[in-house]
Amino acid sequence: MNTLMLTTSDEDLARAAELLKGGGLVAFPTETVYGLGANALSERAVKSIFEAKGRPSDNPLIVHIACFEAVLPLVEAVPPAAKLLMDIFWPGPLTIILKKNPVVPDCVTAGLDTVALRMPKNEVALKLLKKCTIPIAAPSANSSGKPSPTLASHVAHDLGGRIDAIVDGGKCSIGLESTVIDMSREVPALLRPGGVTYEQLTEVLGPVERCFECKNGETPRSPGIKYRHYAPRAPLFVVRGNFIEYINENAPKYNKVGVISQVAGEFPENCVVLYLGDRPEEYASNLFAHLRSLDRADIDVIFAQDMDDTGINLATRNRLYKAAGNNVVSSD
Ligand code: AMP
Ligand code: MG
Repeated sequence: MNTLMLTTSDEDLARAAELLKGGGLVAFPTETVYGLGANALSERAVKSIFEAKGRPSDNPLIVHIACFEAVLPLVEAVPPAAKLLMDIFWPGPLTIILKKNPVVPDCVTAGLDTVALRMPKNEVALKLLKKCTIPIAAPSANSSGKPSPTLASHVAHDLGGRIDAIVDGGKCSIGLESTVIDMSREVPALLRPGGVTYEQLTEVLGPVERCFECKNGETPRSPGIKYRHYAPRAPLFVVRGNFIEYINENAPKYNKVGVISQVAGEFPENCVVLYLGDRPEEYASNLFAHLRSLDRADIDVIFAQDMDDTGINLATRNRLYKAAGNNVVSSD
């Protein structure tokens, strides 16, 4: 299959919308990461998403819509607290889980009785969704298990030749997947941290359960939690304590070392050092791209500096630990 590269012009977005309405697969930018879209109401189109990504069929998809009215046919009801979240955080990086209506195919929700919904803020995404007029199921547009794509070139690398088109909208502003909150039960539950922070959610809702770490033996509330994610090719370790000291002590034991750092400093010559940024927002938007670029270099091992878990760092740290398969080392 020849994958069309599309711009964000009205003409190209109309083309992308036609492809989606015809059952095709189109990757498009959002403020979180690039999504791989298909008609959410077509079982055949949705199944082709799982095939293209190599995604396990028990991992449900997020359905994207461009206006509040489009939510109503998809869900049993919109409880007042969920409506409040939509009013405050939509359009934006918040996915809300509600009890679903039968019109949503089982393959979208992996057989669950709930559906995940989001109205993205990215203008290109919103324009495209408006042109489609149908709800669009869209997981991250990467091969399953790889770091999520924050540039069109990441999508082309993973899925070129397997999907109909890619809309190139430049770099995703947030760079991490959406926050996922389950509003289908009595107590709201945070299933995945993201651009809308835990602090912002508790300010609006009061107590919010934290259900994004998979405890041994428990069935996770969000099926995606149980899979290894975001993994680069080389083994990745999160470093606690004095980062520069740890790297200087340990890098000489290897041939070539990848370093993901929040601080500038003197590192041994065999290190490829990628700077994560000056601010937590930059850490978030650079992490996946850095993991991907270290994949292209011939690296034996990657060391990444640990961070705190307030604000957006909760999400960045969650992805970093997942990418590392929870491998942590310490300088002391
Ligand atoms: P992705 O689209 O790749 O960003 O992944 C979507 C995430 O949302 C995965 O972690 C899914 O497990 C989660 N998700 C989607 N729908 C549901 C649902 N109905 N209940 C719980 N988690 C969901
Ligand atoms: Mg994903």
